[in-house]
Amino acid sequence: MPGPLKTEAVVLRSMRFGEADRILHLYTPHRGRSSAIAKGVRRTRSRFGGRLEPYFRLHMVLHEGRSELMTVTSAETICGHRRLREDAAALDSAARACDAVSRVFATPDPHPGVFALLCNELALLDAGAGGDRSHATHANQLAFRLKLLLAAGLAPQLAACASCGESDGLSAFSGAAGGVVCSACEGSGFRLAEEAHAFMTGALGAPLADAPAAGQSALRQADRAISETLEHHANVRLRPALPG
Ligand SMILES: [Zn+2]
Repeated sequence: MPGPLKTEAVVLRSMRFGEADRILHLYTPHRGRSSAIAKGVRRTRSRFGGRLEPYFRLHMVLHEGRSELMTVTSAETICGHRRLREDAAALDSAARACDAVSRVFATPDPHPGVFALLCNELALLDAGAGGDRSHATHANQLAFRLKLLLAAGLAPQLAACASCGESDGLSAFSGAAGGVVCSACEGSGFRLAEEAHAFMTGALGAPLADAPAAGQSALRQADRAISETLEHHANVRLRPALPG
């Protein structure tokens, strides 16, 4: 039924619209990815202040009309992630994380776990910004994507060959098969080092803050495994997990 909707939300994107308005892409716990228009937000005396910007976590009241585009009635800051905004690497990681959520979970279906994961990622990036404990790393971005795959029901099979079930000699990864493959089945995949395999298993099993470390070459292989899984099973292409 149309009416006011009270929800938490993370602003994924904020686009200028018309003279003074903004269109927002939001991620919410129970309405997944939703869009809303904030009217008059670009006027200097707007009651929304500067809080309708990407990476803000907000309490919102949205008005549901007849169209899919809701109207922002009110917005209160839960966390603005101020430190993150002053650190280029953290800001870049936040943009990639929001983009990944936006592409993998592009519908209004409820996924409270994905909302919590995104909030966790933004909080980690914010906490580590500007210091020597930054989470704005390739390993963190890949761990985040692996958890998105898990939430989407697309977690790669890592314990046994995804083609034949063999548990020994797992030496390659096949996006089409949906996981690691053994030496007899590796024709369908690319070589996966033990370190990359261990990284993916560890990242899926650990909290995001404790994602394991791995060398560059292992991370590149894990990155490819995640990308190929998404392309084959969700028809989704993500921006590269690393800048440049
Ligand atoms: Zn096999």
